[in-house]
Amino acid sequence: MTNDRRFADMLHHRGQRLGQGDPVAPPLVSATTYHLAGLEGAAFKYGRMAMPTWEEVEEQLAILEGAPVVGFPSGMAAISAALFATLSAGDTVILPEDGYYTTRLLADRFLAGFGVKARYVATTAMEGADFTGAAVVFLETPSNPGLDVADIAVVARRAHAAGARLIVDNTTMTALLQRPLDLGADLVVAADTKAPGGHSDVLYGHVAGRDAGVMARVAEWRKLAGVVPGAFEAWLLHRGLETLEVRLSRMCASAMVVAERLSAHPRVRAVRYPGLAGDPSYKVAQAQMSDFGFLISFELEGEAEAEAFLDRCRYLTQTTSFGGTHSAGERRARWGDAVAPGFIRLSVGVEPVEALWSALAEALDA
Ligand SMILES: *Cc1c(COP(=O)(O)O)cnc(C)c1O
Repeated sequence: MTNDRRFADMLHHRGQRLGQGDPVAPPLVSATTYHLAGLEGAAFKYGRMAMPTWEEVEEQLAILEGAPVVGFPSGMAAISAALFATLSAGDTVILPEDGYYTTRLLADRFLAGFGVKARYVATTAMEGADFTGAAVVFLETPSNPGLDVADIAVVARRAHAAGARLIVDNTTMTALLQRPLDLGADLVVAADTKAPGGHSDVLYGHVAGRDAGVMARVAEWRKLAGVVPGAFEAWLLHRGLETLEVRLSRMCASAMVVAERLSAHPRVRAVRYPGLAGDPSYKVAQAQMSDFGFLISFELEGEAEAEAFLDRCRYLTQTTSFGGTHSAGERRARWGDAVAPGFIRLSVGVEPVEALWSALAEALDA
């Protein structure tokens, strides 16, 4: 990751075209209307169609993705756009049965009503699943919250052989740590709400893809459905992205240390981190990811022990998101995920790792 030129290119994306006296940081432009004396030659016409501050962020993300990007007001807005742009009545979509649960709710509550059938497959079974008759295969790897990994290239080959498109939710990794489009995915969707924003203060999402026809439909969906990001949110994400690589380096390095020490702790069971050599995800993760991420999952004895640990640990915020500067922990069973009552998802932040580990160890040992 530290030798990744894309990040340097991203940091200097405005530099190439700055004129004397231009602001280095992008201006926050919230204008809904633009001077339009006739329709010809205007880069911007109306705020729902395009906004200067969205384009600054899309340019950053496009450099990281190596593909055109369309921005959305949340990760779910991006996922919806990708699904509505690629599915129609009578189609079947394959969804991970253990991935981010809101995507399954969207399929159950809305796509089903439009005649789209969903079939559910475990992330670990995706590589060998039967995709016959599917129009879209949707993959999330590593899956949230179980941290199972599937080989994207294998799933892409099998999806294409069955005549299906592959959409990969890359939220847990970001474009810096995993490149699904290079591995054969047709579209990437991601919640920039997580590590890319990074400061727990902005909802954002994007779709990336190299098929111009599909991306035109994704952009048209945004314009017609009116699911448009706000200018301020785009501006905040632009700022967050400027430090993404630095934050991720710290978070991944700390996560490795914490995962190893949790594994050795007598009160902790079932530690999952793709970077642990004994983890079922390790082999594929090592081959297709450039680092192992900042999410760890583990189990304590039961609900009471897990809640007490989360209450006691002074360096964990008890939030339901991840990827922020603060380490955060949550008992996922409270949302109905199919996990043990004592299952905790830990998002490692940017705290100095020894301070973080002492706080975790004290809370475990208390
Ligand atoms: C959070 C998340 C989303 C949804 O993102 P929002 O910005 O909250 O809409 C989608 N997929 C995964 C894997 C997530 O973790």
